[in-house]
Amino acid sequence: MSAPEPIRSIVIVGGGTAGWMAAAALARLVRTGVSVTLVESDAIATVGVGEATIPPIRTFNAMLGIDEMDFLARTQGSIKLGIDFVGWLHEGHRYSHPFGEFGFDIEGVKFYQFWRKLHGQGAASWIEDYNLCAMAMKAGRYLPPVPDPNSVLSRLSHAYHFDASLYAAYLRGYAEARGVRRIEGRVLDVALRGEDGFIESVLLEGERRIAGDLWIDCTGFRALLIGAALETGFESWSHWLQCDRAVAMTATSPGTAITPYTRATAHQAGWQWRIPLQHRIGTGYVYCSSDISDEDARATLLANVEGEPIRDPYVLRFEPGRRKQLWVRNCVSLGLASGFVEPLESTSIHTIQAGITKLLALFPDRGFSPVERDEYNRLTIIQLEQIRDFIILHYHANRRTTGELWRRVREMELPETLARKIELFRRRGRFFRYEDELFAESSWIAVLLGQGIIPEDYDPLVDAIDPADVRRKLDRIREVFARAAEAMPRHEEWIARNCPAPAEPAPAQVRKHA
Ligand SMILES: Cc1cc2nc3c(=O)[nH]c(=O)nc-3n(C[C@H](O)[C@H](O)[C@H](O)COP(=O)(O)OP(=O)(O)OC[C@H]3O[C@@H](n4cnc5c(N)ncnc54)[C@H](O)[C@@H]3O)c2cc1C
Repeated sequence: MSAPEPIRSIVIVGGGTAGWMAAAALARLVRTGVSVTLVESDAIATVGVGEATIPPIRTFNAMLGIDEMDFLARTQGSIKLGIDFVGWLHEGHRYSHPFGEFGFDIEGVKFYQFWRKLHGQGAASWIEDYNLCAMAMKAGRYLPPVPDPNSVLSRLSHAYHFDASLYAAYLRGYAEARGVRRIEGRVLDVALRGEDGFIESVLLEGERRIAGDLWIDCTGFRALLIGAALETGFESWSHWLQCDRAVAMTATSPGTAITPYTRATAHQAGWQWRIPLQHRIGTGYVYCSSDISDEDARATLLANVEGEPIRDPYVLRFEPGRRKQLWVRNCVSLGLASGFVEPLESTSIHTIQAGITKLLALFPDRGFSPVERDEYNRLTIIQLEQIRDFIILHYHANRRTTGELWRRVREMELPETLARKIELFRRRGRFFRYEDELFAESSWIAVLLGQGIIPEDYDPLVDAIDPADVRRKLDRIREVFARAAEAMPRHEEWIARNCPAPAEPAPAQVRKHA
């Protein structure tokens, strides 16, 4: 029996963030003789949003060999140290989800366990005072993290805000320079192979036909390959994640400050994002269409925009959930074609990255072994469900008094996986991260505490350590973090010094041998 033949050609359909991220990452295969083609239609707009990220994006850029400063400059990028949640627990309340870790563990016991004991005794301030990212967010300041664990700056972690269309253009330059072929044209039809239903080719306008071995569906909510052609079902999560629309726009920045964080502000029927870039603010209202009309959502957004509108508000519709399978036959779906949970924790671009990484780790041959495909689906579904649970937590644990949406989500039944997590934490602050879970313990702790879930008790091991010593340590951490944050440059000054956007766009700068 002869071994299956290697993949000779990959066709990516769609040129939004998902398509160009996939093209950039797969471009290295061109060197091995594989052809990589991206088909996109200028006549069909990309979704036009998706500008906040989470820290693993740095790994993706590093994998491509992208220079961070060049990348930030060319995408009008800024630094994101976390999210500022306004009004989520109740009206007037505020907390942050910073990316860095809280304090330092003591003798193998989690920092937040000590904090819980001292806070309960009135001897510790709110947990954010023990997180350097949170302190830098409050001060509007930034310095890059350093790898030396003896430096306090090792406690920092960051992601980016960037202009979505510039990011796609940046990656396009990268991919084309490495041999990815771009074909402009609208896909009209998808031809399936008679014997096994695999995708054989697509028909483009102008009677052009493109064939390929491996197909990547990046056609956004249309899901032309995985959905329309392969008829893969969709699992809706709309009973938990009830927001199903967003009205989005861009506006001028109100002043010179560029906040190093995303803001998420709860409104009556949903919430509003605010993403600061170098040249503008991206903002939008994510809402539940059964609680507010599009017109009222638009009016709410306009009433809560600080600068002058640049792009008029436009409405996007979506259904939260995922494809029942993400890899079907010879087609892998990425981005919005594979599913979507709302952008509250900026996870969508990450799921593209995670999909690409898994595809590379399980890269098939033309035999398309079900083992590789099934593992891809298994791992991806676990991760999507963990992200789903994290988002639901923000909604469910609310004590807001205005807005029917907030009452419904407070009273709804939770996925069992999340209910268990909350109860374990509520009892004694216990937390476990399962199966390569995306969000770190510190992220869950930030949101659990921020949403008012304070453990009833703490780990008994805390009492094994001298309380006076613990208190001294906590006071010292708070002091050192506060001083370190104040000593950082203001975020906008750091940008101006290190990665100001050029007046004229220029080609991407990438390290050799990337
Ligand atoms: C309101 C909202 C806010 C968001 N905010 C964030 C965020 O802050 N952070 C984050 O990580 N993610 C966010 N996302 C998700 C993020 O926008 C997407 O994950 C990301 O943009 C990827 O989109 P995409 O490439 O899958 O789809 P799209 O951008 O829709 O691209 C689809 C591509 O397919 C092409 N296409 C479609 N049909 C055809 C056809 N027939 N022939 C040829 N080409 C075709 C189009 O031309 C286009 O190039 C947000 C999403 C929404 C809805």
